[in-house]
Amino acid sequence: MSVQITRGIKILQNAIIQQDKQLAKAMISDGSFHITLLVMQLLNEEEVNIGIGALLELKPFIEEILQGKQLILPFQGIDTFGNQVGFVKLAEGDHINPLLEIAETAKRTFQEKGILAGENRGFKPHLTFMKLSKAPWLRKKPRERLMHI
Ligand code: C5P
Repeated sequence: MSVQITRGIKILQNAIIQQDKQLAKAMISDGSFHITLLVMQLLNEEEVNIGIGALLELKPFIEEILQGKQLILPFQGIDTFGNQVGFVKLAEGDHINPLLEIAETAKRTFQEKGILAGENRGFKPHLTFMKLSKAPWLRKKPRERLMHI
């Protein structure tokens, strides 16, 4: 994660905490920022091992998509999933294409090995900076809480 993105998110998180100190517990810490490419279900050790194999197989495919180039992902604006999860949105632009291709290739690679991978709700690249599930006692009035962001 770039220094600029991390810095921007921290400023945002601090601004939210200023409005409601209790929300500090809902914040994602900077070592944990990530973009979820794929969600999968690995039910036992055998499936975990198959998953490791799929991940190793995936690496050269991703390298082929990137062709030695760095994929720079700009983020702009914020949104929520049902007022429960606050995230920063991926900006529009050509960088979305290789990212979609990587996510699609990842899904195919895991599925070809018989692993239940991918979500019904589809791939929506985002960067989560807070989630109320980290502080369930704050979930009572999620609408009012997240409305401040
Ligand atoms: O992928 P990430 O770790 O950022 O997801 C944070 C939360 O957002 C998860 O609880 C996930 O279930 C939720 N989510 C969602 N709708 C999506 C993607 C993620 O509610 N399209």
